Amino acid sequence: MKNNPPSLPNSLIEAVRYFADADRCFEFVKDLRWADGPVTCPRCECERVSFLTTRKLWKCLGCKRQFSLKVGTIFENSSLGFDKWLPAIWLIANAKNGISSHELGRSLGVTQKTAWFMNHRIRLAMGSGTFQKLSGTVETDETYIGGLAKNMHVVDRKRKIHGTGGTDKVAIHGALERGGPVVATVIDSVSAKTLQESIRAWVESGATVYTDQATAYVGLGRDYDHFSVNHGTGEYVSGDVHTNGIENFWSLYKRAWKGTYTHNARKHTNRYVDERAFSYNNRESNDLERMVAVTSAVSGKRLTYSDLKA
Ligand SMILES: [Zn+2]
Repeated sequence: MKNNPPSLPNSLIEAVRYFADADRCFEFVKDLRWADGPVTCPRCECERVSFLTTRKLWKCLGCKRQFSLKVGTIFENSSLGFDKWLPAIWLIANAKNGISSHELGRSLGVTQKTAWFMNHRIRLAMGSGTFQKLSGTVETDETYIGGLAKNMHVVDRKRKIHGTGGTDKVAIHGALERGGPVVATVIDSVSAKTLQESIRAWVESGATVYTDQATAYVGLGRDYDHFSVNHGTGEYVSGDVHTNGIENFWSLYKRAWKGTYTHNARKHTNRYVDERAFSYNNRESNDLERMVAVTSAVSGKRLTYSDLKA
C-alpha cells in the first residue's frame, strides 16, 4: 500500500509526522519489541501465533488467548495511541534535564495526570534493561537528594548526614566505569553492608575501585584493587585516584531535578535516577538512537496507575 515509506525521523517534528500513521507505528514498535526473533505470546512464550490482520491482534495457538502489541509492555491498558506514546518517548529520551508532566502534557495535548503516568512508564523502560557488570576502573560514591541536604556543601553533607537516617532525604548509591556506563539506585541505608552489596552486584571482581575514605568501603580490598581519597581532609585527587566522574553524574542529576521536578517523592526517586542514568549512558547517541533504545525496552515492563499511587 505504501510504496514510498519516509525515512526514519531525525527531529521531533519529523517524529510527530512519522508516527501520525498508525500502521507505521505498529510496524515500528513490533520490529523493536521482537527484534531478536518471531512474535511470541507474552503469556506463554509460544511462538505459534496467527495474526488477525483486521484487528491488529495475534492469537496464540498455545494458550489460545489473543494479545495486542501493547500487552506485556509499558503501553498495556493505555487507551492512548502510539501517535502520542512514540512522540512522548522521543521527548523524554532526548530531554537533557528531564521533562515535567506539565510540559509533556502541554506538548502532547493530554492532561497533566495522563502525562505524569506516561512519564513514569517511559522512565520504567529507561531503567534496568540488560546490564553487564562494570569493569576496568570504577568510581563509586553515594549522595543525598532532598531535604536539608540540598543546601549543604558536599563535604558537610557527607560528614553531617552519614547514618542519621533522616526521613526528608533519599540516599542514592552509584558506580561509574571510567569511559563507560553509570549505574545508580536508591538505597535504604549507607551501611557498609548495603554499599558493598551493590558494588559486588555491579562491578566485576578484580576491577580497580575508587571510593572516598568512608569506613563503609573498608573490606572491598578482598575482591577489588581498592583505593580511596580522603575527602574529610580536603584530598580530592591522588594521582589517578578520584571520584570526579561519579560526582559529576550527581551534579547532572541534581541540576535536572532542581530545574524540572517540583517534588521528589522517595518512591519515585529510583525512576528519576534511571532516567538520568539513561541520559548519561546514551549521551553519545543521536535523538533517534536514544528513542529507539527506550522503545526497544518496553516489553516486560508494566506499571499500572495503582502501582504508582500505592
Ligand atoms: Zn500463549
